[in-house]
Amino acid sequence: MDLLGLFPDEIKVWLKSQNIAVFRGDQIFSWLHKHAVEEFGDMTNLPADLISKLQETFGSARPLHLVTSRVSMDGTEKFLFSLRDEATIEAVLIPEDDRQTLCISTQVGCAMGCSFCATGRSGYVRNLSAGEIVAQVLWVENRLKKQRLGISNIVYMGMGEPLANYDAVLRSVRLLNHPKGLNLGARRLTISTCGLVPQIKALATENVQINLAVSLHAVTDAERSEIMPVNKRYPLSELLEACDDYTSQTGRRISYEYALIRGFNDNVEHAQKLRDLLRGRLCHVNLIPINPVGAEKRPSAKSIAEFAQVLEGGRIPVSVRKERGTDIEAACGQLRQIHLQE
Ligand code: SAH
Ligand code: SF4
Repeated sequence: MDLLGLFPDEIKVWLKSQNIAVFRGDQIFSWLHKHAVEEFGDMTNLPADLISKLQETFGSARPLHLVTSRVSMDGTEKFLFSLRDEATIEAVLIPEDDRQTLCISTQVGCAMGCSFCATGRSGYVRNLSAGEIVAQVLWVENRLKKQRLGISNIVYMGMGEPLANYDAVLRSVRLLNHPKGLNLGARRLTISTCGLVPQIKALATENVQINLAVSLHAVTDAERSEIMPVNKRYPLSELLEACDDYTSQTGRRISYEYALIRGFNDNVEHAQKLRDLLRGRLCHVNLIPINPVGAEKRPSAKSIAEFAQVLEGGRIPVSVRKERGTDIEAACGQLRQIHLQE
C-alpha cells in the first residue's frame, strides 16, 4: 500500500483497523501533502509509537528518492527519481518570476510510440501509482520550501501518456487539489494527451477544472499517423469531435500542441490547414520547435514566425514555446524542453 496515494478518509480506515484514533488521519495527510515532510519522524505532533507503526507498515514516507539532478543555465532543473522497484522517472522544474511550474511523469516509459519522442522510443514499463505521481510534486515542494517558494503550476507532460493511466492520474489531481493538502487549484494543473478519445470523453464528465492540452502535431491523418501511431486508432475527425464535446461540456479552452518539424509539418500550407481545422474553436495553439531525438530538424525562426502569423490571421491565439534548459537536454528523455506557455 502506498500511503501517499490515500485520501484522509482512507488513511482513517487503516488507522481504525489498527485501533488508532482516526483523527490522526487528517494530521498524517497534512504532514505528507501540505507540509511535504520527508520522513515520518518529522511528524512532530504524532506519538512515537504511531511513527514506528507507520515506519513498519509503509517503510518510508515517500516511494521515491533522488538519483541525480541537473540545473540548466536558465534555471530549469531536471530531477531523476528512482522508485521502490528501481524504475526511474524524470520531473522538471521551470522557475519563473511569477510561478514555479513542475512537469511530472505518469508512467515509466510510454506505449504510444510517437516517433519524435525519446520516451516513446524507450518503450513502456508500467503505470505510476497516484502516490508516485504526487511524490514527485511533494519532493520538489519540500526543496522549494527551503527557499521560501512553492510549486504554483503542474503540467502532466513528463514521461508517459496521462490518460492511459487515467485512474491514478485523476486520483493524483484530486490529492493535489485537496484542501487539507497542497490545495493546488485544478486550474493550475494541465494534463497533456496524445489524443485518447474515450478518456477525453470521460474527462469531460469529471468534476475537475483542469486544463487539457492535446498533442496534435499534424493536420492530415496520413501525416499524423506517420509520427503518432495513436492516430490510426483515433483519427483527427474523432479526436476533434471529442475535443469539441469536451469544450462544450466544460466551457474550457483546449490547448493544442504542435511540434514543428522542418520539412514535415512546418510550411505555410500546413499552417493554413491548421487554421482551417481549428477555426471557430475555443482553443489556443502552442507551437513547439521540435527537440530532435532522431533525424528531425527544427524549422528556422523565420518559418516559425510565418507559421504563427497564419494562425493569428485566422484569430487563433498562438504562442511559441520558449526554449528552456537546452544545455541539460542531452542527458534527458524528453522532459526538459517542455513548458506550457499560457
Ligand atoms: N503523452 C502526453 C504527455 C507527455 S509528452 C502527450 O503526448 O501529450 C508532452 C509533450 O511533449 C507532447 O506534446 C509531446 O508531443 C511533446 N514532445 C515529445 N517529444 C518531443 C520532442 N522531441 N520535441 C518537442 N516536443 C516533444
Ligand atoms: Fe508517449 Fe507523449 Fe511521448 Fe507520444 S509524445 S510517446 S504519447 S510521452
